[in-house]
Amino acid sequence: MFCPRCGNEDEELYEGICRSCFVKEARLISIPQDLEVTICTHCSSLLNGIKWEDSELSEEELVTTVIMENYDLLPYVQVLELSVEILTVRGSNYECLIRVEGTVLDTRVVEEHRVNVKIKKSSCPDCSKYASGYFESVIQIRADKRFPTSKEIQAIDKIIRAKISILSVKNRMAYVSDVSIIKEGVDYYVGSYKAARKLASAVKDVMGGVVQESPRLVGRDKSRGRDLYRIWISIRLPDFQKGDFIEYKNRKGQVRGFDGRKIILNDLETDGIWSIMWKDYKKIKVIARRSDIKITNITSKTPKSIQILHPNTYQPIDLDINKETSDLKIGNEVKVLEVEGKIYILRNDHENNPDE
Ligand SMILES: [Zn+2]
Ligand SMILES: [Zn+2]
Repeated sequence: MFCPRCGNEDEELYEGICRSCFVKEARLISIPQDLEVTICTHCSSLLNGIKWEDSELSEEELVTTVIMENYDLLPYVQVLELSVEILTVRGSNYECLIRVEGTVLDTRVVEEHRVNVKIKKSSCPDCSKYASGYFESVIQIRADKRFPTSKEIQAIDKIIRAKISILSVKNRMAYVSDVSIIKEGVDYYVGSYKAARKLASAVKDVMGGVVQESPRLVGRDKSRGRDLYRIWISIRLPDFQKGDFIEYKNRKGQVRGFDGRKIILNDLETDGIWSIMWKDYKKIKVIARRSDIKITNITSKTPKSIQILHPNTYQPIDLDINKETSDLKIGNEVKVLEVEGKIYILRNDHENNPDE
């Protein structure tokens, strides 16, 4: 073959010229002189094409990354070393020197490029939403037939703050844009509906209650052609507290605790423990409060019955003995509750101290 550059004959050609001509003219890499990258001023996420991506890079690291992603290797090149040095920084313009060492057709080549990287600052859609107070969901903290107590409100606030800081690591929209304290309770305005649901269930797991969601149409997203909803999530704390007495399907019990799914009770008649699902909350009747617990004494005992004095009238009352009361002795103090004219001896739990 014949090299059009130097006229040598019998040469193998590379890109149309002979090896020595090719090596003489060869470059290792090509890279645009000006590069640009857009980041969000608030969360430092990165605009990649039309998509915003999370980024934890510093500006210097970002400049290097942009350079590494934007150079092209030229034919027959092997890069051995490439280093980026930031020469000057003017505002958000980084003037960089790229030093490349490599081989072209086994011949060693060293070259330098000057590149200017501009970091454009913008606001990603999520941060713009946050800045404008955007929210997808409102969590309403309420209580049934009463107002949430300040103790409950504080406990819930703690749960929400702890949970949101975990959620916000992975979800930029997991933020509380506003908290408003109103007569009926507290409203939390939450950026993301998904996060709001997780917050609500975290609250319910500890505080119990009934959770209800109600979407409200707030407008229309014309670009996507769909209706826009906001979801109100109400958490209604129960009318009763731990230690109160309730009735459900003719069964009476004392609330010993609850979790996100159910209410756990000590049976008033037997010493059994049972539970009610929160979804059946409406069928629960509160029959007495923990503050209704009274203290009285055992005045006599037979193998089958136990006698106590009525806590108010001091009339003697005979009760059948059961597993719970069989250990009691004459003179012992016992906690009792009167419901619908009937007296129940309560377990000697610390939960049953009326003033605790
Ligand atoms: Zn040649
Ligand atoms: Zn952002």
